[in-house]
Formats: sequence, structure tokens, C-alpha cells
Amino acid sequence: MGEPLPRFRYHPDPVAIGAVEASPLACACCGHARGFVCAFHVYCAAEVGRVCPWCIADGAAARMFDATFVDTRSLERVGIRDDVVREVAERTPGYLCWQSHDWMACCGDACEFHGDAPEDEMRSVDHDGLVRLSEASMFDVEDLRGMIETYVPGCSPAFYKFVCRHCGRVHYNADCD
Ligand SMILES: [Zn+2]
Ligand SMILES: [Zn+2]
Repeated sequence: MGEPLPRFRYHPDPVAIGAVEASPLACACCGHARGFVCAFHVYCAAEVGRVCPWCIADGAAARMFDATFVDTRSLERVGIRDDVVREVAERTPGYLCWQSHDWMACCGDACEFHGDAPEDEMRSVDHDGLVRLSEASMFDVEDLRGMIETYVPGCSPAFYKFVCRHCGRVHYNADCD
């Protein structure tokens, strides 16, 4: 315990948004109780329990369980470089979601994930923003207006916030159960 947490290029603050949590559990990969584990189970064929963020950051957990932590099809669809796709899939803690991960991209790179979007931010998204959100999420604009009205972070419907590492633009995506 007491070691600095690893840094994730595409997931800058996993503790603040609940993807990594303080826990006495031993990691299913390295076997050590290092004070923190990823908040959800490894996404792979077998149920393998929780892994520590260090084993995610260095790729050990992905290799040991032949697992990925994020579904990166949305990045592959827009032609993001393979090494970036692999870093997001294999060495980035994911997030809890209802249907599927649609990790956002901008400026030719994967965005940083910033967790559930704050309510006030979602309620101030303008029409152009709703159109972009509609394209990203496949929900139509009118449905999105209704979803935003009842939105409570952490519940369904969900809105996730992503930030471009290059231009700083904020992108949102939507999901529901
Ligand atoms: Zn570990
Ligand atoms: Zn950008």
C-alpha cells in the first residue's frame, strides 16, 4: 500500500469516478492486496474477480486472462491507430455501462474518459450538441431531451463525458438499460 497509482492516458482520474476503488481485496492477477482494485470484474470469458490498477496499467491482467476492459469497436470504426485501440482495450480501466462502451474519439485519437457527465452540463447542451450526441448514441434528439430531463448521474439513462486530449473539446455519449 501507499504506492502511487498508475497513470492511465485515457482515464485520468479513475478513483474520482469510481472505476478504481480502495479495497482490501487481493488482485486476481498478481495476488497482492495493494490497496486498490478495479471496481468491476474483468471482461472476458471466465469470471476472474477483481484486478489491481497496476496489473491493468502494465498489461499483465489483459495477458493473463486474455481479457479486454473496454469494447473498442467505436474507435476501430473511426480508424483510430491500432496501438491506441490496444491501449484503451487492454491497459485502461473501463467503466460500468448498461449496453456497450462507445469510447469517443476526436482529433484522430481516443478521448479521455471523465465518468458520468454532471447534470448541469447535460442540461445546458445546445441543439448542435444534441445533434452530435444523437449521432454518437443513436438516440434521436427528442428522446435525448427527455432523457436529459430525468437524468441522474449513475443511473439509467446514463450520459458519459469524454474530453479530447488535443483540442480540449468535450464529447458526450448516452446509454440506457
Ligand atoms: Zn495486480
Ligand atoms: Zn479534438
